[in-house]
Amino acid sequence: MGKADNINYESSLKLYNRAKKVITGGVSRNTIFRRPHPFYVAQAKGSYVTDIDGNTRIDFANNMASLIHGHSHPVIVDAVTEQMQNGTAYTLGSEVEVEFGELLVERNKEFEKIRFVNSGTEAVMSMIKAARAYTGNPKIAKAEGAYHGTYDFAEISQIAEPHNWGDINQPNSVPVTYGTPESVKQDVVVFPYNDIKRTLNLLEANKDELACVLIDPVSHRVGMYPIEEEFLVAIYNWTRKNKVLLVFDEVVTYRVTYSGAQHLYPVKPDMTALGKIIGGGFPVGAIAGDAEIMSVFDPTQKIIKQPHSGTFSANPVTMIAGKTAMQLYDRQAVDDINKMAEIAKHQIREAIQLAHVPVSITGAGSMFRFHFRYKQPRNYRETYQSPEERKVIVDLLDYLFIHENLILINTFACMFATTIKQAEVDRLTQSMYNGLKKYK
Ligand code: PLP
Repeated sequence: MGKADNINYESSLKLYNRAKKVITGGVSRNTIFRRPHPFYVAQAKGSYVTDIDGNTRIDFANNMASLIHGHSHPVIVDAVTEQMQNGTAYTLGSEVEVEFGELLVERNKEFEKIRFVNSGTEAVMSMIKAARAYTGNPKIAKAEGAYHGTYDFAEISQIAEPHNWGDINQPNSVPVTYGTPESVKQDVVVFPYNDIKRTLNLLEANKDELACVLIDPVSHRVGMYPIEEEFLVAIYNWTRKNKVLLVFDEVVTYRVTYSGAQHLYPVKPDMTALGKIIGGGFPVGAIAGDAEIMSVFDPTQKIIKQPHSGTFSANPVTMIAGKTAMQLYDRQAVDDINKMAEIAKHQIREAIQLAHVPVSITGAGSMFRFHFRYKQPRNYRETYQSPEERKVIVDLLDYLFIHENLILINTFACMFATTIKQAEVDRLTQSMYNGLKKYK
């Protein structure tokens, strides 16, 4: 990228230079950093985002999968604006919190009780703590490569490299943050996704110390390959037999059906962490599940096993935005967005064939991800992008961003919003074809 590209990005470059003086790296989220500098937004509406240099792009990332209705949906904006006249956060409860809780519990019969927090990370953390408080056990088990936010225990092995990922029979607990205490690593059992025998062996070896098995049913960084039913059922049955909790991270996957990806499988998690789309564009998280387990949070119990708070948890602005967004995300809207993603995948598959490139597509519902290999990867090691492959993907994503004016998720994935229609899908298809031809 440079002047020769004839693309105006000077205002973003200027703002980056200013930002760097006060914000480490110029942005507060590493996931939006780009080389040679990040871009800054002036305005966003529906599926279109305009940066401060006036470049307008189609958004297929939707703030990392959190904007199910795109940017500034007018009905959500109206509801939030009205709520803001009546206060934005109280040291008291609010009716809209109860209404939103009722709505989500109604949507998922297995959500007997719910609690709201401020992010997916916080939801996963609170869920793990609740599992420990309920069982009295310290350890968790999680899939190699799976991203569950940044709680110390949940982020173990989210990134593992061939030189440190260890034997597949017993993957290493790889910390992603320098200085992570040894004790954290010891309390996380890392298992290979979709590998029944190895996973059950690992669970069995740790059964007396495990509080929960943490699963994302369509784990983005594991490859966005939906978990295989046989594998999930084997884990579910094992947890029932051994009194270990099965907890789901549906922070991203809740969008996949009207009541989450869990409804695609014949298992019932004990608790589920939610986030992203249920905030209607505002910071959110939630823990939902079995009433008895969730009672560890209950302030009316004689012993409160997990004192649980958060200054902005269930603030009425998030609650009204979330409630409105989820009312709009009714069965018809879920069907429509999933159909649109199916059309996109079909068209892009044809474009891939025309471009003669070895690319496969994984995903579920309105989320999908591309891989530079013919065979869909089933686990983290098969998904792993070598530095050479990563370079091609970064170049391709840069090309799509700068020259085709598209925003994709940096793992090479799309997360649709209900505002994406045939015209946007056609642009995506043509741009993917142009990009793949150029970088194959
Ligand atoms: N779990 C999953 C599966 C996620 O993808 C994410 C975020 O991308 C999180 C948890 C963390 O959510 P948040 O970024 O709201 O903390």
